[in-house]
Amino acid sequence: MSDVVMTIAGDTAHAAATFGVRNPATGEVFAEAPECTRSQLDSAFESAAKAYRDWKSDEAFRRTTLLGMADVLMASAGELAPVLTAEQGKPLADANVEVFAAAIWCQYFANLETPSQIIQDDESALVEVVRRPLGVVAAITPWNFPLTLAFWKIAPALLAGNTLVIKPSPFTPLSTLKAVELLRDAVPPGVINAVSGGDELGAWMTSHPTPRKVSFTGSIETGKKVAMSAAPDLKRVTLELGGNDPAIILDDADPAVVSRAIFAGAFNNNGQVCSAIKRVYVPEALHDDVVEALAGYASTVKVGDGTDPESKLGPINNEPQYERVKELVADAISGGARPVTGGHAMDRPGYFFEPTILADITDGTRIVDEEQFGPALPVISYRNLDDALERANSTHFGLSGSVWSADPERAAQVASELECGTAWVNTHLALAPQQPFGGFKWSGVGVENGPWGLSEFTEIQALYRSRAADGLNVTTAGLVS
Ligand code: NAD
Repeated sequence: MSDVVMTIAGDTAHAAATFGVRNPATGEVFAEAPECTRSQLDSAFESAAKAYRDWKSDEAFRRTTLLGMADVLMASAGELAPVLTAEQGKPLADANVEVFAAAIWCQYFANLETPSQIIQDDESALVEVVRRPLGVVAAITPWNFPLTLAFWKIAPALLAGNTLVIKPSPFTPLSTLKAVELLRDAVPPGVINAVSGGDELGAWMTSHPTPRKVSFTGSIETGKKVAMSAAPDLKRVTLELGGNDPAIILDDADPAVVSRAIFAGAFNNNGQVCSAIKRVYVPEALHDDVVEALAGYASTVKVGDGTDPESKLGPINNEPQYERVKELVADAISGGARPVTGGHAMDRPGYFFEPTILADITDGTRIVDEEQFGPALPVISYRNLDDALERANSTHFGLSGSVWSADPERAAQVASELECGTAWVNTHLALAPQQPFGGFKWSGVGVENGPWGLSEFTEIQALYRSRAADGLNVTTAGLVS
């Protein structure tokens, strides 16, 4: 494919060096991406800072711009989705959904009200609490949903009046660079800058003096580094990090009904979703039926190249992740877990792994305790619900979780005990632009989406208009009376 370019100050920034991007369905390098230099990163931040001066002052224009961006994205799905499939591996239909989600997020934020609040209105003062933009934002994204997650940041950051420099993962740089290139005519120069490079580029961004905020999505390990790097000059941070979501099935659930949705919630995007189901807790009496039903879906789902319209699941995105999934599954099997279906890498080029259901497994096994982020799901039986809840919560993770039952009220009661940012009842992975998304504990700091996510791209300002003729107030009056 033709190589893609970085966008700095609304223009192409040519790179002196490039790095290879692999198609995970073949394992072969199929494109080159620009390696951003330090001085190019300085230019990107400089152009964002310059663009901020005008961008912050016209909210109506920002809303119109976001709507225009949504139109461009929708119209570009045919161009963007194949790039996403080639670099990420996901089926083309899912890649199209990702592009549309990016557009929908732009539309949602274009129309989201940003109300100010009057907290005092009397003879002495009119006091208003308003939200102000932060300035320049450094946005860093992972490889599982490169486009959707980019626009979870771009859309609210821009509505709030900030400008931005975005860096996608080195495994999936192309779709983000291409999207920002396509948006050049829809957005004033410097408002969105897109750069690409390795992990070191991310570290340069978080320690750079210009951005006032880092919006980061990625692993817990990197999130901690980002927090430390942002601390010396007190940059604001939002960290959307890893998860190890439990699904707890209650004893009144119908295995045939819940297993279908649990399979979908675990294997979406080949299990490479921060808030996918990563461990299932099931009552002993239902264990065999649930395992059998899940294995039925796992053994028949069509795995293949994302360009094949028949494929429902693609490859794992990259070699290190492929090796990690192989290692965690092998570790579980050598520890006594039973692969009811799957358990091995597929005998073909690329990073394909058999959809795997693991039974006879419990907490204390790495694939239960750690985030596998791939197509392998452990099913753990329990005798006592309190004990299952305790095990679900006994972790540093706290992104999301779900409870499954014929009695939604009972399930909601149990769900309210989950220590996580999103607790679903009888579903999993229901996400929407108006719904806050974030993690408890090590799964994150802050939230994205909805008015709560928007406010993370702002500072609060108390705008105090005195109505006292002499300008004195309750704090200062005593000094001169
Ligand atoms: P990662 O942490 O390895 O990388 C994420 C991004 O950070 C990449 O762009 C990378 O280049 C950059 N980076 C790496 N080192 C950096 C540093 N020192 N400073 C600044 N940036 C740096 O994560 P990944 O492997 O790309 O993504 C998978 C992880 O992301 C999983 O743990 C998954 O759960 C998590 N995730 C979380 C959410 C969420 O919203 N909570 C969503 C998607 C993925």
